[in-house]
Parts: sequence; structure tokens; C-alpha cells
Amino acid sequence: MPSIAENLAHIQQGLRKETRLVAVTKTKPTTLLTEAYEAGARLFGENKVQEMVAKYEALPKDIEWHMIGHLQTNKVKYMAPFVSLVHSVDSFKLLKEINKEAKKNDRVIACLLQIYIAKEETKFGLSEEEALEIITSSELAALSNVKIAGLMGMASNTDDLNVVRAEFRGLKNTFESFKAHENEQVTMRELSMGMSGDYLIAQEEGSTLVRVGSAIFGSR
Ligand SMILES: *Cc1c(COP(=O)(O)O)cnc(C)c1O
Repeated sequence: MPSIAENLAHIQQGLRKETRLVAVTKTKPTTLLTEAYEAGARLFGENKVQEMVAKYEALPKDIEWHMIGHLQTNKVKYMAPFVSLVHSVDSFKLLKEINKEAKKNDRVIACLLQIYIAKEETKFGLSEEEALEIITSSELAALSNVKIAGLMGMASNTDDLNVVRAEFRGLKNTFESFKAHENEQVTMRELSMGMSGDYLIAQEEGSTLVRVGSAIFGSR
């Protein structure tokens, strides 16, 4: 089996420099995260707050921690002191909570709006219309401790890569159309899409952040 370092090197080789790799470390022990760190990985993605906090405390402080999973508002306070980017904002209520906790920590937290692009019922996210409502809301200006830096999406879990590609392309179109609404607080700079099975397609369709777990660390 190839090592974590070999997996990282292989994936990096396929990525342009505009596409950054978020190493998804969920469920993996810190020993494996350390291995990835020693191989040069600095962007780590977790989907549970407590797990991310524990790993943040155990690992070097030059790691950027990305929250990629569905968030409950009562957990936001634990990650607010250090999280670099929240990929998974799926309600205005959550954005307000992130703002409140960011303010307590004297920080501005960058967030992506998670857009629902898959066919499956189970995935969290906003519709394009709901996301547009958030970025054009008159209430947003009062939330000075968050900024919206782009969009995130997860494609359908299917072997039909044409479906996956079409979903990524749709999200990229939304991303481009939202640029018309950019202001001090809203920029469409990061497009988070692509996982182990589809990150190369996502890159071709314009992803700036791919979230790759099992292709680095093995299956969960
Ligand atoms: C687990 C997870 C990933 C990584 O999935 P892999 O298929 O292991 O690469 C990416 N994004 C999100 C939101 C995840 O929860």
C-alpha cells in the first residue's frame, strides 16, 4: 500500500496551483495526521467540531483547520477561536451564530455557503435561491465578524461521472453569477468541490478547494 506521503504527492501532482488540497482527516488518529503534516499537508478538514478541537490541540499551530461537515449552532463556540474556513454554512441562523462567536474571539471567520447540488435527499445545503437571499440580505452588513468567501457543494454519489460533472458545472455557474453581488463582505473566491472519487473532474470544472480523505488516508 502506498504511504500517506506518496498519496499526497500523487494527488498534488494532478492539481494546478489554483486548486488547493484540503486533507480530510475525519475519523483518523492524530498519528496519521502527523504523517500528513510531515509530508507537507497544512490544510486539514474535519466534519465534527469536538474531533477537530481535539486534533487542533494536539497538532502544530500552523495548520489551517476547515470545517466541512454539518454544524449545530451550539458547537460553533468551540471552533470559533481557530477555524480557518467553514465550508458548510447552510442557514442564516448558523451564519449569525458564527458571527456572534467570531466577535467574542475578535476574529472575522470566512465561510462558504453550502449549495445543494446532488440528487439525493440526504445532503444538507441551500438552494441557489436561498443562498442568493443570504448574500443579498440587508441583515448581512450587521454581521461584521463573518465574510462569505464562496460556495461549497457535494455531487451525487454515483458512478455516472457525467452526472457529477454536470452538477459541478451547475455550481460553477452559480458561483460565477454570484460575482455580480460581491461587496466588502461577499466575495466569490473559493469554490469547494471534489472528493476522492471526483476531485479531478471538480478541478476541470473550476474547483479551488478539493476535499480529499480516503485517497490520502485509506478508507474509513
Ligand atoms: C468525508 C468528506 C469528504 C472526503 O471524502 P472522501 O471520499 O474520503 O475523499 C469531503 N467532503 C465532505 C463534506 C466530507 O464529509
